[in-house]
Amino acid sequence: MADFVGAIDQGTTSTRFMIFDHSGNEVGRHQLEHEQILPRPGWVEHNPIEIWTRTEAVVRSGLNKTGLGASDLCALGITNQRETTVVWDKRTGRPLYNAIVWQDTRTDRIASALDRDGRGDVIRKVAGLPPATYFSGGKIQWILENVDGVREAAERGDALFGNTDTWLLWNLTGGTSGGVHVTDVTNASRTMLMDLETLDWDEQLLNFFNIPRAMLPSIRPSSSPDPYGLTLNSGPLGGEVPLTGDLGDQQAATVGQVCFAPGEAKNTYGTGNFMLLNTGHELVHSKAGLLTTVCYQFDDDRPVYALEGSIAVTGSAVQWLRDQLGIISGAEKSESLARQVEDNGGVYFVPAFSGLFAPYWRSDARGAIVGLSRYNTNAHIARATLEAICYQSRDVAEAMESDSGVHLEVLKVDGGVTANDLCMQIQADVLGVPVSKPVVAETTALGAAYAAGLAVGFWNSTDELRANWNEDKRWEPAWTPEQRDSAYARWKKAVQRTLDWVD
Ligand code: ADP
Repeated sequence: MADFVGAIDQGTTSTRFMIFDHSGNEVGRHQLEHEQILPRPGWVEHNPIEIWTRTEAVVRSGLNKTGLGASDLCALGITNQRETTVVWDKRTGRPLYNAIVWQDTRTDRIASALDRDGRGDVIRKVAGLPPATYFSGGKIQWILENVDGVREAAERGDALFGNTDTWLLWNLTGGTSGGVHVTDVTNASRTMLMDLETLDWDEQLLNFFNIPRAMLPSIRPSSSPDPYGLTLNSGPLGGEVPLTGDLGDQQAATVGQVCFAPGEAKNTYGTGNFMLLNTGHELVHSKAGLLTTVCYQFDDDRPVYALEGSIAVTGSAVQWLRDQLGIISGAEKSESLARQVEDNGGVYFVPAFSGLFAPYWRSDARGAIVGLSRYNTNAHIARATLEAICYQSRDVAEAMESDSGVHLEVLKVDGGVTANDLCMQIQADVLGVPVSKPVVAETTALGAAYAAGLAVGFWNSTDELRANWNEDKRWEPAWTPEQRDSAYARWKKAVQRTLDWVD
């Protein structure tokens, strides 16, 4: 058997290709950003062609840099930004519209209409999700209703829907000349169209959005010994590699953090934040504003479910400091700027740019910076931004505890923002539990590699994967309980200010 596994991580801001060895260590990688297209307030799009060409480029460069080829890879896994919606023409392989990104709020009216006539409750029960702009169903409906010719094409069976996993699988396996049209259970569980128990598209849910079934990919396990397809000799890998792993990015990170037992959780800090708690084979319906989602399905085993707290804006608030306010030149500068002050100087920033997701689910919320006085500086704004990341995570951790009764002993973290030492210290302070980061911080790509490698016997069991997990760094809480409680109470007050802003 070949010595390595490859993984493509098609994220919100960039696409990475990574190669791992049997110990789960990184052997090589390449990464490229793609354009964030912001045509109107609340709209966020990506160009699917750019995503595919970036993917080709990172795979080629990743292999070139390491001197490896297709024959060195025993399998390839894919992980992706979830919910982001691509619709393309089966005959030409051309996208019929830009990808509508998960953060996009244009489907606000579609989402709120669902709650007016009871359909929302059916979606909550069957799909485990609250009606929200976040998920794919409303985005597909919007494209069908607003882009000329798509409804007709969909009814003829010529328009295909996919998240970016499906889009890449289609292109990697041949596109218009024979590409596969598949997704996995974790991605499908984010559409509002899949029944969490049967793991199949649900007719009633499809009717809510008026989506023809012919558009939808077939749903496969997240790790599959029967490959979804083979990469092409003429493709970026230059040879045939079995595609045997596919998971949404947050589920992949949960696998990469080896949260295989019920009660184990991780928090990923990227564009947004996503905390997932493994609930085993039990489907837990949240009372506290969390989502119920498929965590993973290995082969044809019973699926493992998770409770999820999704936060729309965390690392992207740091990008906002850089790109819109211009007060830092790079994301890492948020740390040195925030370190210029001892504390937040009374400033709280609630970055509700896409409304508020978990546990509030208020698409009408809008961002606010409160508590300002003449004394405050850019450094306080930077500090408040890092704190906002941590307070939003506390909101979610509290919801998780109340739904599951599981008390966090330690929080496993990963993602781009965890490079920020100050932010992770604040997280431990705000939560009152230690925060722990693994040596291999690229848990998303690693999880996709694990899924792909398990399928072909490169790894034989999840126990073998557990042995690969090693702690790199740990932050211990330093605040007193009084400090923690009074600061959190202020945060909750600030959140209240952002609600009901839009009429
Ligand atoms: P994604 O997979 O969602 O694209 P990543 O895990 O690559 O995200 O993380 C990127 C995010 O992390 C960006 O939003 C960026 O602003 C933020 N980020 C990266 N480095 C730092 C840092 N040192 N401090 C704060 N935020 C950071």
